[in-house]
Amino acid sequence: MVSEFDLIRQLAAKQVVRRKEVVQGIGDDAAILGIPDGHELLVSTDTLNIGVHFPEDTSARDIGYKALAVNLSDMAAMGAKPLAVNLSLSLPRPDHAWVSDFADGFFEQASTYHVQLMGGDTTRGPLSIGVTIMGTVKSGCAIRRSGAQPGDLIYVTGTVGDAGAALSVLRGELNVTQSQRHVLLGRLNRPSARVDIGLAIQGHASACIDISDGLTADLGHILEQSDVGATLHVAQIPLSTELKDCLEATGGWAVPLYSGDDYELCFTVPAAKQGGLETVLSDYGYSATCVGRVEAGEGLKLLMPDGGTEVIMPKGYDHFM
Ligand code: ADP
Ligand code: MG
Repeated sequence: MVSEFDLIRQLAAKQVVRRKEVVQGIGDDAAILGIPDGHELLVSTDTLNIGVHFPEDTSARDIGYKALAVNLSDMAAMGAKPLAVNLSLSLPRPDHAWVSDFADGFFEQASTYHVQLMGGDTTRGPLSIGVTIMGTVKSGCAIRRSGAQPGDLIYVTGTVGDAGAALSVLRGELNVTQSQRHVLLGRLNRPSARVDIGLAIQGHASACIDISDGLTADLGHILEQSDVGATLHVAQIPLSTELKDCLEATGGWAVPLYSGDDYELCFTVPAAKQGGLETVLSDYGYSATCVGRVEAGEGLKLLMPDGGTEVIMPKGYDHFM
């Protein structure tokens, strides 16, 4: 018989990261996290459910990787340094092999970003992975959704739309080559959290969000919370070569505009700080592209590549619609 405690021990044994801020990790009734003087604690939770956030046949390793990546992405979006996580694991049965593979993916990310697993809960139920992440910023320095001002420039990191195209591939709606498939599915199953870019744009960016629901939907949250509008130059939205090659077959610009799961950052920068931002990006070799501008008023105007204009109600994935 495999007990709950065997599983917890098995998981904990794979962890290598030890942070000085974690005063008490796994093993007591609650973990203890120290916060450095002059800093604030940021806390965020994201859950992955089977069939909703990952296809049923996703490997345990990729699930572990993605469960942490999507949470790291929330810290990135705030310009925060991730420190520690709690993991709430619901498993249909006590499966050592599954937990081992899951832990490999999870701790691969944890090691990269030096994040310590400091506690959690293990229960029986439909496969679901809840992660609560904790990070810090210098007091007052978090990048919020509400800080965009008319005249600010809008940037997107990396490229968007690959994860959405990957879902079309999995649904059998899009035929691609083996190498395109590999790249697109890699973006869906193993998203890169832009933690380093989030830290680098702190002091330059006026607002930031990570793109989990779709570029227009998530930019829409910034606009709504900042009480501003914007114009997006659709032809400037950065695409991977793999997506460019199949953009027409996937339904054109709808994929990069409306599909989610890419976990890139969308942020705004005051025009006076654009030079400084561009210097930081090029010094570190970070990829981010200017795609539009914040304006007074409301709504998101899309300047389409064919010269047409569309004003849209931001939309993306809503779990209850
Ligand atoms: P309690 O009975 O107080 O809920 P548990 O028996 O659930 O405690 O957990 C024992 C210890 O193992 C706690 O420190 C808890 O944080 C940790 N733990 C349980 N499940 C996990 C998990 N999935 N990941 C990390 N730590 C876990
Ligand atoms: Mg418990």
